[in-house]
Amino acid sequence: MHYLDNAATSWPKPETVYQTMDQSFRSLFSPKRGTAKASRMGASQLQQARQTLSELFNIPAPERISFTSGATHALNVAIQSYPWQAGDGVIISAVEHHALSRPVRKVAREKGVQFFIVPYTDAVPFDLEVYETLLKTHPQIKLVATTHASNVIGSILPVAEIGKLAHQYGKLYLVDAAQSAGVLPVDVQAQCIDMLALPGHKSLYGPPGIGALYISERVQLNTFMEGGTGNDSGKHEMPSHPPDGIEVGTIALPQILALAAGARWVHETGLRQIHSHETALLDSLLAGLGQIPEITVYGHTDTAHKTPVVSFNLLGQDPKVVGEKLFETYGIALRAGFHCAPMAHEAIGSIHRGGTVRASIGYYTQPEDVDALLSALKKILTESLSPI
Ligand code: PMP
Repeated sequence: MHYLDNAATSWPKPETVYQTMDQSFRSLFSPKRGTAKASRMGASQLQQARQTLSELFNIPAPERISFTSGATHALNVAIQSYPWQAGDGVIISAVEHHALSRPVRKVAREKGVQFFIVPYTDAVPFDLEVYETLLKTHPQIKLVATTHASNVIGSILPVAEIGKLAHQYGKLYLVDAAQSAGVLPVDVQAQCIDMLALPGHKSLYGPPGIGALYISERVQLNTFMEGGTGNDSGKHEMPSHPPDGIEVGTIALPQILALAAGARWVHETGLRQIHSHETALLDSLLAGLGQIPEITVYGHTDTAHKTPVVSFNLLGQDPKVVGEKLFETYGIALRAGFHCAPMAHEAIGSIHRGGTVRASIGYYTQPEDVDALLSALKKILTESLSPI
């Protein structure tokens, strides 16, 4: 199999991730509650996992990180637990994933929150002037929320500049790092990020079912779920501070420690090394696709502002059918359709095509995988052009 679906979930994982998952599942107990030594060891490793993530993202206080079931859960906590008043506003971008846009639409529907969408065009991807005008003219805006990079076309948003503007106007900034954590530098202090949503299973190379939410001292959230926290057990009311206010119930310790092992692997391998490997393959994929006239590549192709995620279509062909053929006939695993981000497809003009075929590169992708895709696409085109 040629695996080109790393924007969905990275595969394979570093060996240390598999080992950590297996060992911790066998030998450690859930911390916070038990009296056994395995429980105390679990507690100390949990603390170490928070420390590892805080070092990777320059988070000032590890206890401001709460583990969640993924980026979707983290974004829902951040958006739905914010103490909204009717009439408050939030800015999002035109390339958001459902994990961010659907909770925003829900608070709009149910709490009377207004949302503003910053448009995307290939010529002017994310216009800072639009952000500034909105912030200047709508004082009721409380939150700016963006993905760090589009999961459809890989376009990178200028998060540091957006964060600076948000802070200049006294607003909070929420970043969905689903497509950037482990790919691009993410620094919550330098980029003025008040809330950071992280997935475990993508470029942090952890398992599925785990993620994290960082919230800064500037943010006060209501609780999202109520239940046992292991601490303050004698009290009737839930604490709302992180991590206890978010980590309700028995936590997924093996997944958390395996995620931390993935994050350590990213740190040890180095973002520079990961980036140079992935960008070299991205360049060759874009160059190869550019030589096939029947293929349209969507979004800008400036690799300095793009993660290794490429969306394209074949002339006259349904992306879903192409995706299925690529796997069934050529063993190439990727994704086709709307990728849970229909606004992005409206922006790039692929909404009426049924979305796009999306290939995404990870650290374990090899040049042969890219070559296999290019050669399969040429064959599919030849077959569809030749008379029956
Ligand atoms: N945001 C973006 C931009 C994504 O690409 C994804 C995953 N497709 C998510 C959020 C959701 O992440 P998770 O699977 O960790 O819930």
